[in-house]
Amino acid sequence: MLDIVIIGGGPIGIACGLAAQKAGLSFLILEKGTLVNSLYNYPSTMTFFSTSEKLEVGNIPFVTTHTKPNRADALEYYRRVALSNNLSLHLFEEVTEFHKKDNHYHITTTKGEYDAKYVIVATGFYDISVNLNIPGEDLPKVKHYYQDPHYYTLQKVVVVGSSNSAIDVALETWRKGAEVTLVIRGNEISHRVKYWVRPDIINRIKEGSIKAYFNSNLKAIREDEVDIETPDGLVTIQNDFVMAMTGYKPNFNFLSHMGIRLSDDDKYIPQYNADTMETNLPGVYLAGVVCGGMDTHLWFIENSRIHAEMILNDIKTKEQK
Ligand code: FAD
Repeated sequence: MLDIVIIGGGPIGIACGLAAQKAGLSFLILEKGTLVNSLYNYPSTMTFFSTSEKLEVGNIPFVTTHTKPNRADALEYYRRVALSNNLSLHLFEEVTEFHKKDNHYHITTTKGEYDAKYVIVATGFYDISVNLNIPGEDLPKVKHYYQDPHYYTLQKVVVVGSSNSAIDVALETWRKGAEVTLVIRGNEISHRVKYWVRPDIINRIKEGSIKAYFNSNLKAIREDEVDIETPDGLVTIQNDFVMAMTGYKPNFNFLSHMGIRLSDDDKYIPQYNADTMETNLPGVYLAGVVCGGMDTHLWFIENSRIHAEMILNDIKTKEQK
């Protein structure tokens, strides 16, 4: 019997593993993909908005020569942290179910079964995209994930959204020779866009290098064109690729199937005690960005790495009773 099973080998799952190790408790991290799978799937060109010390886990220094680390720096860091601390982890093993059995939890994965006194759910939000739900969304030219700009050279690219991801895609693909059109629901570029990137996109739109339709929605996608609903009526433009950067969401089915209560509004915020991170299931905790429900911008590495300590403090208190 393990003390703790941690579901998810992202930065916060790793932080929980380090905290469990420090507390002298037995634990296993189960990760359905590669180590820090979400970060691995981020754009190859991605730069964090946080400085490196804010991304540190277990107080282990994240040394970079530039203030804002990029994806490659982060992969190096979290891998070195996990391996040099000999964290107990199984990769490419998905947790499909866990339930209470006697006074512990029984966890089922795609490769085996485990028993643990406590479960920490640190499953993030990057696996499921928020879809547009419009005709043509299932065409292969429609992407919800973006790896690299080179692929889009000389292509007519429509980018949907105005978050950091959307604006990075628009600027990077335009700089590699794509003809870019932004479709933005609101009337301006989001103020959450990185402060050094926002003026860049505003100026590219102003000078006409990138076309932007504000207060607009993509209505339909076909093989070689798209329909955009704009304040001036329906516009149809030629198109090769649609980058639907409309966000991602936690796996709500998994959470509710396991018995974790979700708020009954459209945010689906999982229920947990803000002091201990314990859910409505005794001994089951939430950690990291999964806590935010549909509000995926609320939690990030910087402000959720503290969850590891909060959870382990609660577990240690329970163990002392
Ligand atoms: P994740 O990293 O998503 O880890 C969850 C893990 O759980 C995944 O590896 C997943 O494969 C695994 N998993 C899911 N379900 C199961 C299952 N059933 N069984 C087993 N494993 C499972 N944050 C910052 O603090 N600073 C930044 O500058 C920053 N920049 C960002 C830029 C981009 C483009 C994006 C998308 C995010 C950024 N974030 C940033 C947010 C940050 O990356 C996330 O907050 C971070 O990944 C959260 O860590 P996590 O461990 O909670 O979740």
